[in-house]
Amino acid sequence: MDLNNLNSDPIVVVGGGFGGLATVQTLLAKSDGTPVILIDEGNRFLFKPLLYELLSGELQLWEVAPEYSDLALELGFIFLQEYVVEIDEIEQKLITSSEIEITYSQLVISTGVTTDYSLLENLEDYACGFANLNDFRIIKKLITKINNSTESTNPIVIAGAGPTGVELACKISDLIKDRIQIYLVDKGDKILPNCKSFNREKAIDAIGKRNIRVYLDYYIKSVNKTFLELSSTDNGTNNFIKIDYSTLLWTAGLKPSKLKFEYHFLNQNEKIKVNEFMQIDEYPNIFFVGDITYNEKSPFPSSAQVAMQQGSLVAQNIISLRQGNARKPFKFEDLGEMLSLGVGNASITGYGITLAGPLAFKIRRFAYLMRMPGFLLSFKSSGSCLFSKKIINHLFSQSL
Ligand SMILES: Cc1cc2nc3c(=O)[nH]c(=O)nc-3n(C[C@H](O)[C@H](O)[C@H](O)COP(=O)(O)OP(=O)(O)OC[C@H]3O[C@@H](n4cnc5c(N)ncnc54)[C@H](O)[C@@H]3O)c2cc1C
Repeated sequence: MDLNNLNSDPIVVVGGGFGGLATVQTLLAKSDGTPVILIDEGNRFLFKPLLYELLSGELQLWEVAPEYSDLALELGFIFLQEYVVEIDEIEQKLITSSEIEITYSQLVISTGVTTDYSLLENLEDYACGFANLNDFRIIKKLITKINNSTESTNPIVIAGAGPTGVELACKISDLIKDRIQIYLVDKGDKILPNCKSFNREKAIDAIGKRNIRVYLDYYIKSVNKTFLELSSTDNGTNNFIKIDYSTLLWTAGLKPSKLKFEYHFLNQNEKIKVNEFMQIDEYPNIFFVGDITYNEKSPFPSSAQVAMQQGSLVAQNIISLRQGNARKPFKFEDLGEMLSLGVGNASITGYGITLAGPLAFKIRRFAYLMRMPGFLLSFKSSGSCLFSKKIINHLFSQSL
């Protein structure tokens, strides 16, 4: 591919996660012939909600993380594996770590978030997140090691009882057959505070059936190589607990992946404050999508569902902008929520339907595979064609 020989300045999307790929897909579906370039530092799109099934071997790497080069061929965009280091908003160009410069007509930034290890001293040395394929490989190795050993070890501690912490605890517990106790720690007073009540109840049941102990109203105050200290969030009680641990998994804090450009716009939560069109007023040709964004007036959660809806809207607004038409504001449509709760088990709430157990697990997996960009890639290959596409489409057409 020769970047100097494009027929016009391309539309460039930085970050090939849910937001970036949804943008690319919609742009291509409504194409006016402008080249679309997707830039990502990695070589694979990662369908993060299915990382648990990758851990358990219920799905394979190529199903959960297709290569961008395959998606580019299937969908018809240009893929560049590069890390974007800087954006020059005045000259309308970006620069990558190998000093490639690309001039854009419109730019979409969807660089997502990563585990925040800065929240506690030594955290990076002693903890592992669950946000990318590297983390997956470390945890997979840990599970294999536990299963191949006859010795008992200290507990695994998981920080954060949001969806990632809870889903990870249930899955690991099943995979190590409850041999080692898992401590799930959260500074809040309940697990899954932002989830649907049905899903929370099912998660409480799932945790109760496994070798998982929950510490609510506690936060991890300090961590060392062999022990960590929990402290009660209730200042009055001054309650400390010392825990000798074997592994610390950190799901309790995320931070945006930063570009030089973004530093000007990060707020207290280190997110980019966007207007209703997913933009900053001063820069009409730049759009922001996904987990890096927030809107004070009409808040939305950080989720794949939101990122995809934003990506789709931003692509339509780019086309409107190019055609001189009015842009549309972003409005989040909540299409439901699905949780993985151990091997072969899940809970679903959406479209007035609540369902838990093995059937929910199969529907969740199938509904997610249906949302895979270049869906045919996974549909052709997946052994999970247990439901008709029509039924799943009806139930969970865009739900994540
Ligand atoms: C384990 C797990 C399970 C989850 N389960 C669910 C779920 O069930 N439902 C749900 O709705 N959400 C779920 N989420 C959250 C969801 O995955 C995120 O909200 C979603 O991925 C956000 O999309 P995004 O496009 O903003 O960022 P991402 O999907 O994180 O993509 C960002 C991309 O940008 C790239 N990038 C970053 N910086 C640069 C740079 N400078 N240059 C080039 N490329 C760069 C990264 O490599 C990455 O590919 C889950 C998350 C995790 C970690």
